[in-house]
Amino acid sequence: MNRRNFMLATPAAALGTLILPTASLSAPAIITNTSQILPRHTKGPRIVICGGGWGGMTAAKYLSKLVPQAQVVLIERNPTFWSGPMSNKWLIDIVNTDFLNHDMLAPSIKYGYSLVHAEVTAIERDKKTVRTTQGALEYDYLILSGGIRNAYDAWFGNDTYAAEYTRQHFPNAYIPNAEMFALKNKLKAFKGGTIVMTLPPPPHRCPPSPYERACLMAWHIKTNKIPGKIIILDPKPTIGPIGEGYRAAFQELYPDIITHVPNARVREVDPFKKHIKTTAGDFDFDDAVLMPPHQAADMVWNAGLVGTGTDGKPTGWANIDPRLFTAKDDDNVYVVGDSMGFISDQFGHYPKSAHVAHAVAKIVSQNLAERIAGKEVVPVLPDNLCYMMVNGDPQEEISVKFEYELDASGKVLQTQIDMDVRTPDLVKEDFQWIESRFNDFL
Ligand SMILES: Cc1cc2nc3c(=O)[nH]c(=O)nc-3n(C[C@H](O)[C@H](O)[C@H](O)COP(=O)(O)OP(=O)(O)OC[C@H]3O[C@@H](n4cnc5c(N)ncnc54)[C@H](O)[C@@H]3O)c2cc1C
Repeated sequence: MNRRNFMLATPAAALGTLILPTASLSAPAIITNTSQILPRHTKGPRIVICGGGWGGMTAAKYLSKLVPQAQVVLIERNPTFWSGPMSNKWLIDIVNTDFLNHDMLAPSIKYGYSLVHAEVTAIERDKKTVRTTQGALEYDYLILSGGIRNAYDAWFGNDTYAAEYTRQHFPNAYIPNAEMFALKNKLKAFKGGTIVMTLPPPPHRCPPSPYERACLMAWHIKTNKIPGKIIILDPKPTIGPIGEGYRAAFQELYPDIITHVPNARVREVDPFKKHIKTTAGDFDFDDAVLMPPHQAADMVWNAGLVGTGTDGKPTGWANIDPRLFTAKDDDNVYVVGDSMGFISDQFGHYPKSAHVAHAVAKIVSQNLAERIAGKEVVPVLPDNLCYMMVNGDPQEEISVKFEYELDASGKVLQTQIDMDVRTPDLVKEDFQWIESRFNDFL
């Protein structure tokens, strides 16, 4: 059998993956593939970016621009980019699929970086190597922007069947993948009953967005006169951020549909009997959007960069230098986006938002460019801005802004500004915000 026939004969070849030189016919080794994906083709450093979402695509663009002598490689498991921002609005057709879902090859060619579609399976920092389903890549500098993972194990322990059943039947669509379509199709098919929505305990991805989702699902239920209710099980004592704006929307727009239950920390979930026990009571449901706690993406765990709390347990998030965004244990590794861990004892984490992921990716690119050029790196902090739609017709939004500064002792301080009055003007600003970001890195 010649090499071509061999490749066509294996399942891995059918998937388009590379075959190990040592692979046998009976067991093509995909995960353990050790061949190098790309040769080094520049004299400059190689910068590998894991995760091509908001943070990763922005870093790939800016590093290619600011360090032109570097070889920049972006690794992403999904075939296309999918935006979290605007995905709640997409659920009720305010924007279409093409607005959220984008080709990734065109930006890689436009900005001059290499794009590898593969799953990151291991990070060996001692060898400065990333292993993927397509092969291995050595790096000089590594940027991790893998977003979040759903920590179903917090609910189900080792019961992976219950976890998978929950993901299949009650998807939360908080990670860019096919769950988004599942949730939208469910909403369109919903004929009535009680929907329960669990909010993860903080910190979690985009804190105001589950309330936005509840509002827009409620808008769909109201507009289509469906006999349905949404119960929000919130582990926090109050709604926030933009608490006043959301409270007004729940009471004035959806009084018969949305019930917000505070202090509802999940104690037990039975996805088979559709029953959930919380610290604020027990609830039966007909359908649900079940969000377990969020944690840093698997790649951060894999790289051994998750922090340890004062209780000796993993914090769930990357342990980073809050001013430089390097990993505490390894300054050749930067972490951007939602995986970033503790920043300040005034507010904890930066909001896990696309705005922050994009801003920090730009800052990290600048920092790394200065470092490679042998210059001193001056800490720069991000800001944050989130627009949330609460009414589908007329379209009205509320918003929250965060500003950051360093105090004299080097601690990061946060100022929060809520815009609680819902208005169509903020919808306009929201579209301007997202279009300016998409035009920046797509
Ligand atoms: C419903 C919803 C509404 C939101 N609304 C807003 C908003 O209005 N404004 C705002 O600022 N933010 C919003 N967000 C939050 C925003 O989407 C995230 O904060 C942002 O995407 C974080 O960027 P990131 O790069 O850290 O992660 P992501 O954008 O999720 O990118 C991570 C990428 O890494 C890839 N990846 C992960 N693991 C691997 C692996 N092992 N191998 C290869 N690839 C991997 C993933 O496929 C993904 O593409 C919203 C999110 C949701 C879900």
